[in-house]
Amino acid sequence: MAFGWIDEQAQLRRRAGLVRTLRPRPADSPLLDLASNDYLGLTHHPEVATGAAEAARRWGGGATGSRLVTGTTELHTELERELAGFCGFEAALVFSSGYAANLAAVTALAPHGSLIVSDAGNHASLIDGCRLARGTTQVVPHSDPEAVRKALRTHDGTAVVVSDTVFSVDGDAAPLAEYAAACRERGAGLLVDDAHGLGVLGDGGRGAPYAAGLAGADDVVVTATLSKSLGSQGGAVLGSAKVIDHLVNAARTFIFDTGLAPAAAGAALAALRLLRREPERAARARAVAAELHARLTTAGHEAVRPDAAVVSVRAPSPEGAVQWAADCRTAGLAVGCFRPPSVPDGVSRLRLTARADLSEDQITRAVRVIGETRP
Ligand code: PMP
Repeated sequence: MAFGWIDEQAQLRRRAGLVRTLRPRPADSPLLDLASNDYLGLTHHPEVATGAAEAARRWGGGATGSRLVTGTTELHTELERELAGFCGFEAALVFSSGYAANLAAVTALAPHGSLIVSDAGNHASLIDGCRLARGTTQVVPHSDPEAVRKALRTHDGTAVVVSDTVFSVDGDAAPLAEYAAACRERGAGLLVDDAHGLGVLGDGGRGAPYAAGLAGADDVVVTATLSKSLGSQGGAVLGSAKVIDHLVNAARTFIFDTGLAPAAAGAALAALRLLRREPERAARARAVAAELHARLTTAGHEAVRPDAAVVSVRAPSPEGAVQWAADCRTAGLAVGCFRPPSVPDGVSRLRLTARADLSEDQITRAVRVIGETRP
């Protein structure tokens, strides 16, 4: 029977405790949110909502076409100019998602005959970029600059090293400066995904590459999402004008995709301007993460020391993680739950996100609920 194999797969998933279901969130959810990626608490900020509404009113509900046809408005170029300036790069290009930005950057920067060196902890969208690219991928152990060096030495032609700046599962930061040094020894490019760094790391939230002294370097390309700290939707690539022009001409997820919706561009631009005006939001998100980590480990939980705003807490098993997250929810706390295949090492975790707008009382409540519901 057509698609009969889907039933078999579903049964295997059920047996392994790995079934995923959608849970629609009401607009007025009473849950304390430590599950979203709204690191700076900007999604519901009145200026961000107004930015979205005004852009929709002025430019319409959609971009109307692909970027090279009708889908580039003046709003898109304004956002690109300000985002590039904020992060310290010459140019930027926005995409309909961070996923599309990663597919674009990896495929366009790794032509036939090139080598892609990819950190084993990379996000699915970078991995998929490697799968789509014409170059050959070598996966290296997580956060290991020596392994990167070794991989680069195996190849004489064009090469690019690809890594998250902050890894989404454990919230640990990549050794960016060491990766850049390894690349420079061999004349390789460095492509980093700053989805979890933008708005949290670097001076006033300018991102992990800025913090590592790599902003504006012409051998460094950065991808980012507008859907986390900037409280909107969409993605971006930042780099030299040469690289951005290349993407405009060569990146398929840029050329064949409808432009970012004006409302999303307007919201992201409003959030970026807010962050410029209120740079302390970035430091506050980091401080909340550090406090959550300290209080959880004091309470006996096994948590990874956060380098940005993601706090990862070890769970006993996939089923235990699901039960723990469900019990937190019943007690009024929304937390993320990561289990295979999202976690390549097979270790299930609760994933908490520190938000800059969490109060001391909310942090206390979150730590108490996590303790009381521990399996
Ligand atoms: N990169 C990383 C590291 C991410 O965590 C995500 C989002 N989960 C993405 C890229 C994709 O970004 P977007 O959600 O904007 O498509």
